[in-house]
Amino acid sequence: MPEKKIIIAIDGYSSSGKSSMAKALASKIGYRYIDSGAMYRSVTLWAMRKSIVKDGNVDIATLIASLPEINVDFRVMPDGKQHTLLNGEDVEELIRHLDVSSNVSQVSVIPEVRHKLVDLQQKLGDGKGIVMDGRDIGTTVFPNAEMKVFVTASAQTRAQRRLQELIDKGIPASYQEVLANVVQRDHIDETREESPLRKADDAEVLDNSVMSIEEQNKWLLDLYNRRINS
Ligand code: C5P
Repeated sequence: MPEKKIIIAIDGYSSSGKSSMAKALASKIGYRYIDSGAMYRSVTLWAMRKSIVKDGNVDIATLIASLPEINVDFRVMPDGKQHTLLNGEDVEELIRHLDVSSNVSQVSVIPEVRHKLVDLQQKLGDGKGIVMDGRDIGTTVFPNAEMKVFVTASAQTRAQRRLQELIDKGIPASYQEVLANVVQRDHIDETREESPLRKADDAEVLDNSVMSIEEQNKWLLDLYNRRINS
C-alpha cells in the first residue's frame, strides 16, 4: 500500500518557533517544507528596493501593478538547506533583517498580494507531502489539511528567541526593538480584514513558552503519527 501523504499546516504568532518545528518535522518524515512568511518577506524586500514601501507606508496601487514582476521561489542549496529566491536571487538572509520585519505586515494586509501568494502556496501543495507554516495556512490556504497546529508563546519569550536568532546570524538588533516589532506584527496580522491570523477551529494548540526544542519536536511528531495512523 502506498504511504499516505498529507498536508500539514502550522500557523501561529511571530517567532513562536513554528518554522524550526515545521522544518524538523518535514526533514524527519521526508516531506517538503515551505516557509510562507518568506514569500511575504520577499515581496516586501522587492517593494522596499523600489521605494514602494518605506517606513511602514505602502504605495498600494504601484505595488499591485508591479506584482507580475515579482517571482518568489525556493531552491535546495548545496548546504542542503532550502533558500528563498526573489527573481532568481538568493535572498534567504536579507529577508530576515529587521527592516523587512518592520514593513512586512503592512504589505501582507493587501488582498492582491495575498491572492498571488496563496495561489502559489496552493500549487506547491498539489502533490501533498508538504509542511507549510504561516498565519493562514489552516484557515485559508489549506482549509482541508489533515493536520493543523496553532503555535503560541508569550511575546517576551518570542522576542528573546528572535533576538537570539538574529545575533546568531550576525544581524544587529536590540531586545526592545525586536519585542516592539513582534507585538506590532501580531496586532496587524490579527486585525487585518483578509485572512487574519486565527486558529482554525480544528487546529491543535501548542503553547511552547516553557518547552525545549526537543519536546516541541516530539509533540509534533507524535501528533503526526496519530494522524497518519487514524
Ligand atoms: O513567519 P514570518 O514571521 O516570517 O512572517 C512574516 C510576516 O508575513 C508575518 O508577520 C505576516 O505579516 C506575514 N505572513 C502572512 N501570512 C502567512 C505568513 C506570513 O500574512 N501565511
